[in-house]
This record gives sequence, C-alpha cells and structure tokens, in this order.
Amino acid sequence: MAIRFDGRVAIVTGAGNGLGRAHALGLAALGAKVVVNDFGGARDGTGGSMTAAETVVEEIRKAGGTAMADGADVSNYEQVQAMVAKATKEWGSVDLLVANAGILRDKSFGKMELSDFQKVIDVHLAGTFYCCKAVWDGMKERGYGRIVLTTSSSGMFGNFGQANYGAAKAGIVGLMNVLAQEGRKTDIRVNTVSPTAATRMTEELLPPQALALMKPEAITPAVLFLLSDNAPTRTTLGAGAGSFAQIKIIETEGI
Ligand code: ADP
Repeated sequence: MAIRFDGRVAIVTGAGNGLGRAHALGLAALGAKVVVNDFGGARDGTGGSMTAAETVVEEIRKAGGTAMADGADVSNYEQVQAMVAKATKEWGSVDLLVANAGILRDKSFGKMELSDFQKVIDVHLAGTFYCCKAVWDGMKERGYGRIVLTTSSSGMFGNFGQANYGAAKAGIVGLMNVLAQEGRKTDIRVNTVSPTAATRMTEELLPPQALALMKPEAITPAVLFLLSDNAPTRTTLGAGAGSFAQIKIIETEGI
C-alpha cells in the first residue's frame, strides 16, 4: 500500500538544508502539512537566519504542498515549545516529528574544547530530547505519533574526531529505546535512522565520486517508512552508503 500523509502535521528540524530539506519535501509531496524548522546558522552552530527554511517552504508551496517556516533553535526549549504551539494553533496537532537538526565540531580528542562537546550535546542530544518532549503530551492525548530521530554510525562505531558527536548520537539511540517503550501503548512509534549522505556535513570529507552516489533524497524513503502508519518501533534503520572514516581530520591532525 502506498504511503500517504494526508491530514497529518509534521515537524522536520534542520530542514533548511541536506537531509531535513529532502525529508520535508518528501513529506509534503505525500500530503503532510510541514513545519520546516531551521535556525539557519553556520555548520558549527553559530549565527542564524530563517532564510534557508523559507526557501524550502517556497519550494513546497510551488509544488502545491502546505508548509510553514520556523526559526526555533532546537537547543532552546522555550523556542521548541513555541514552534509546537504555533503548529498546533495553525493546524490542530503535531503527528509526525523528524529530529534532524545538527552541527559538527570535529576535533581530535586531545584538541577538543569543553565548549565543542557542550555545543554538540546541546544541539543533538538535548535538542532531540526537547523536540520529543514538546510533542509528547499532544501525541499521547490523541493516541497517535510517529517520531524519527537521526543517529549516525559515528554513535555506534565511532569516527575519528567525533567524541562529541558520537556520544550525542549514541545518546539519541538510548532516548529512542525508552520513548519507543513508553509510547507503545498509545501508538506513538519511535525509531532512529542512521544515514550516510552527501550534505554540508560530509562534503568536505569525501571525494566527489563518493558524494555523487549519496544524495540526501536517497535517505528520505527510509524516513517516510518510519513515519508511516505501518512503521515498526524501536528500530535503527541504516540508510545510504555506509560508514566512512573522517579522512580530513586524520590528514590534517595526523592521528
Ligand atoms: P545534514 O543534512 O547532514 O544534517 P546540514 O548541515 O546540511 O547537515 O543540515 C543540518 C541543518 O540543521 C542545517 O540547515 C542547520 O542550519 C540546522 N541546524 C543546526 N543547528 C540547529 C539548531 N540548533 N536549531 C535548528 N536547526 C539547526
């Protein structure tokens, strides 16, 4: 049976670029109303404007879909709550959440500052927790929810230079394991996707030949499946081209 999301409201965080953008476009094409969240900052989590999210909303509208832009910083719980309140006021509920916003601050462990650790934990792990927390009560009340969290092979196997990111991504699997159990009774299904795709996060690390095979759109079908009525629960779905070493870090820092 073909997957559709008519009548469903989705939030996709970090949807101004890369994977989140592809997921937002995919959801809208299948009928969901989509909150395109992105605080629009630089890759290391500094700065910010909503332009990227607004551009994706325009793309969705041009294709006949329904979307709104949101500039919440996922590491700020008040802003996340305001985003969920805005979507609920406008469209009545939040049924689907894709927690995808992310940053990188790669450094070999010896050179990693405490602030590099804290910032990555704040955006990935705390930000994912906050987004789940903000949609949870509404999903429980309505007896329906689909949540997809973004993890990484880095969280399972480790990549050079990613002590901060790997710890956050492993933590996200831990969060999924609990929420999947606590949500089961009320049909809230929680899964993680572990993507490998060509995005701003990976473009500096891999050769062009590899990147050409790794379009973000290739990951979206896995996410749409995990958001569907027939989704499993408590699954980590690997999608994309598989793990890779942090070539740049190894070369530049001589690990
Ligand atoms: P990927 O697609 O691999 O996740 P990108 O860097 O292309 O990598 O996309 C991540 C997106 O997440 C970016 O558009 C970025 O602006 C967004 N983002 C990063 N930090 C936050 C945050 N704290 N709140 C909301 N969006 C964020």
